[in-house]
Amino acid sequence: MENEPIYPIGVVSRLLGVSVHTLRMYEREGLILTNRGVNQKNRLYSKADIERIQCILEAIRKKQFTIASIKTMLSMVPCWKIINCPEKERIACPAYKSIGVPCWSIEHKTNVCAKMDCKTCYVYTNFTNCSDIKEFIKKM
Ligand code: SF4
Repeated sequence: MENEPIYPIGVVSRLLGVSVHTLRMYEREGLILTNRGVNQKNRLYSKADIERIQCILEAIRKKQFTIASIKTMLSMVPCWKIINCPEKERIACPAYKSIGVPCWSIEHKTNVCAKMDCKTCYVYTNFTNCSDIKEFIKKM
């Protein structure tokens, strides 16, 4: 239920007090991955997506994060460690080498991530704010 995409963009916009334009921009910037309805046109959001957007809004409104700083923070998540990316693939992976773009925003054609669905990946679903990342790093 938590991950079921059922809320149209207009409903999410009203619920969170944020414009449709902003929600689309968050998707373009790679902060959120949405699902499409049957006609592949309309964006649909799940409860988990709404929680994720709430975290983004809190970071922007209360902590003065910029979109770029959120993307940089998310790009620091050690995805290669979480999904046990083999050393050979890791050194050729743009997500491993770059800073500033979350791994799910990068097209993975041949490595282990090429076969995975980012929307359900632990890396995407579990790191929506700084505390989550910090807690993970502490446990490493
Ligand atoms: S499957 Fe997607 S979210 Fe998961 S580590 Fe690979 S690129 Fe990142």
